[in-house]
Amino acid sequence: MTTTATTALTHIANLVTNDPSLGDGTPLGLIRDAAVVIDGDRVVWTGESSKAPATDNAVDAGGRAVVPGFVDSHSHLVFAGDRTAEFNARMSGRPYSAGGIRTTVAATRAASDDELSANVARYLDEALRQGTTTFETKSGYGLTVEDEARALRIAARHTDEVTFLGAHIVSPDYTDDPAGYVDLVTGPMLDACAPHARWIDVFCERGAFDEDQARTILTAGLAKGLHPRVHANQLGHGPGVRLAVELDAASADHCTHLDDADLDALGQGSTVATLLPGAEFSTRAAWPDARRLLGAGATVALSTDCNPGSSFTSSMPFCVALAVRDMGMTPDEAVWSATAGGAAALRRTDIGRITPGGRADLVLLDAPSHVHLAYRPGVPLIRAVWRAGERVV
Ligand SMILES: [Zn+2]
Repeated sequence: MTTTATTALTHIANLVTNDPSLGDGTPLGLIRDAAVVIDGDRVVWTGESSKAPATDNAVDAGGRAVVPGFVDSHSHLVFAGDRTAEFNARMSGRPYSAGGIRTTVAATRAASDDELSANVARYLDEALRQGTTTFETKSGYGLTVEDEARALRIAARHTDEVTFLGAHIVSPDYTDDPAGYVDLVTGPMLDACAPHARWIDVFCERGAFDEDQARTILTAGLAKGLHPRVHANQLGHGPGVRLAVELDAASADHCTHLDDADLDALGQGSTVATLLPGAEFSTRAAWPDARRLLGAGATVALSTDCNPGSSFTSSMPFCVALAVRDMGMTPDEAVWSATAGGAAALRRTDIGRITPGGRADLVLLDAPSHVHLAYRPGVPLIRAVWRAGERVV
């Protein structure tokens, strides 16, 4: 910690702490007329504004709401190129297929390191201005040993939450030899990528990788110290969710097509169900049923899936609004899932909440309540953002 100056945010109409032991006792741990005290990069006090301790500096929230910085636990930001034409065609009646990724693979391979890094920085800045203070991002548009390792090195300049997704699709160089590609991913590619990543992910879906291939890849990653997360059950029902729970993956992502056994597994295991409503929005696909998941006792996270093909949004407030409108979540549940839920999907306890000891990641809304994130969709409600105690927006 480089500073000992303390700062208080006072006169917060509604403070979302995500600590049920605080405030109104709900999962959001809502405190009305609240204050937060920051010391260095940490929150050191939360409570009623009238009881706030003396601090060096003060910021008057003016009766607005404060929520934890959004935790976007699923994005694909290391890419080049553009797929406007594909989106336009799809919205004009052609169905989505995973093959469109090849366009991005070609553009990404052709891009320089500087171009890729500048692209990541640009989308991160975009996300930060919409309140995202932690994000995960993946490789998966290189699909060669060198291009995957390069993507992870670039991602690691921008975040600690880096995921190796060499198994995004079978590389176009191995169309006739998918088994050979799995050997590459679990061999030389994993060796080159593991030092730069925390997580390993597989697109376990018909047309991508089947259950046996996915298990082989994730198990190889575990042996190299990478923890699994799985793209599961997005385009149809499949083994992805079951496999994710079996391997204690941190997260099963998409979860659009689930049967009762999948729901039971997610309800009983510690694998988070991460819903990505931007993908359904951008592909006009059927929505995941968040109510069924919550009813089964699953922990649900919300994330953007920001990528140039199937969900080109970096906006967590947009995802909150979609989750409420189209996936059956209450505003409280959606805000929890976009903050504490994302933290759970990254197995982090220092973010996604505003409690003493936690990282000081705070979003001041231009609204009196967190409910406005869904009530006022598409409106720029992010007035200020602190990340690790520093005001960054
Ligand atoms: Zn994804």
